[in-house]
Amino acid sequence: MTFQRSFRYHALPMQVTFEVGAVAGVGDELARLGLRRALVLCTPEQRSLAELVVDHLGDRGAGIFDQARMHVPVETADQARVRARELGADSCVVIGGGSSIGLGKAIALEHGLPIIAVPTTYAGSEMTPIWGLTRDGRKQTGRDPVVLPQAVIYDPALTTTLPAEISAASGLNAVAHAVEALYAPDASPIISLMAEEGVRAFTAALPTIVEDGTDLEARAQALYGAWLCGSCLGATTMSLHHKLCHVLGGSLDLPHAQTHAVVLPYVLAYNESHAPRAREALQRALGTEQDPSVALWDLAQQLKIPHSLRELGVDESHLPAIVDEVVSRPYSNPVPVTAEGLRHLLDGALNGHRPTGPMTGAPSAHPI
Ligand code: NAD
Repeated sequence: MTFQRSFRYHALPMQVTFEVGAVAGVGDELARLGLRRALVLCTPEQRSLAELVVDHLGDRGAGIFDQARMHVPVETADQARVRARELGADSCVVIGGGSSIGLGKAIALEHGLPIIAVPTTYAGSEMTPIWGLTRDGRKQTGRDPVVLPQAVIYDPALTTTLPAEISAASGLNAVAHAVEALYAPDASPIISLMAEEGVRAFTAALPTIVEDGTDLEARAQALYGAWLCGSCLGATTMSLHHKLCHVLGGSLDLPHAQTHAVVLPYVLAYNESHAPRAREALQRALGTEQDPSVALWDLAQQLKIPHSLRELGVDESHLPAIVDEVVSRPYSNPVPVTAEGLRHLLDGALNGHRPTGPMTGAPSAHPI
């Protein structure tokens, strides 16, 4: 395979700490950054984790705001900002998954408070400059370096309580970031290395985690994969998979990680004939000579998570509007997205049939 000779790579200005028990150092991180008092943000379910952070912050803990919600309603962001002002906070520590981190980003975007992130799922938002905010029922997204956390603390011990099904789906959500980075128009050799290593880490870790969520070795490997795959998402342009999941999730209110986990093998089958470098990297990462779309579908089966959109509440009547919405917005993808091709893809995902390999024709003359 030819070497990719032309690319750009932006390194992110943040410190990453990775260690079992690292959350105990959150106060030192604040001090290192010259910050005095942090408001701790979490979802209601992660309140006990936020209390642990406040204990570790000591005098630097301003209080807790525990109302983070999926997709960041602007009203929630406003409430959190008011709370931060009342408590004299000059920063936020966010603990939890993408919902909590999204709230921290919204506050950073609108009010400039710096963030320290302590992720406990594999969604990867902590490594991206991508923000999202829901106003009047419509989610807006964008990229702005101001929302990047100034420090990220990965502590595998905090993830042992993540249920098996959420762990598996969240892991495949992260794998989707790596897959799309491998065939992105702005792919680079360093990001491709990270993507391949990220998929390898999840392939090894997820089956063990589903059997025993307290296995710290596997939890550490998965969180390492989340870091790598999140970095890939932050560094590249998203293609069909992310756009399709965004439209499905937004219009039908589907669970985020599970939607990614179901859709991924079918989008890969759609794209892989025109992305041979990505295909080879995924075969190495998945440890197979099989077609990677089929291998990913088999992995999802092994992890015992929903494998059809129907199980998530979608039916045939929803599909025409999804197809219209996706094809009406052009974006980069290795294979052009046609209404007919997308409908075929969605019929497979709706019923959860095992993919049979590449769905589209011969490779292009300029393989990605
Ligand atoms: P989430 O934050 O809602 O967490 C998923 C579930 O995991 C929740 O039920 C939560 O209570 C539970 N959970 C989290 N930590 C836990 C723990 N330690 N123990 C037990 N349960 C725990 O969802 P998510 O999948 O992490 O993130 C999804 C959101 O993040 C979406 O809004 C998505 O759009 C956004 N996202 C943004 C980016 C970005 O770059 N901006 C990237 C990925 C996802």
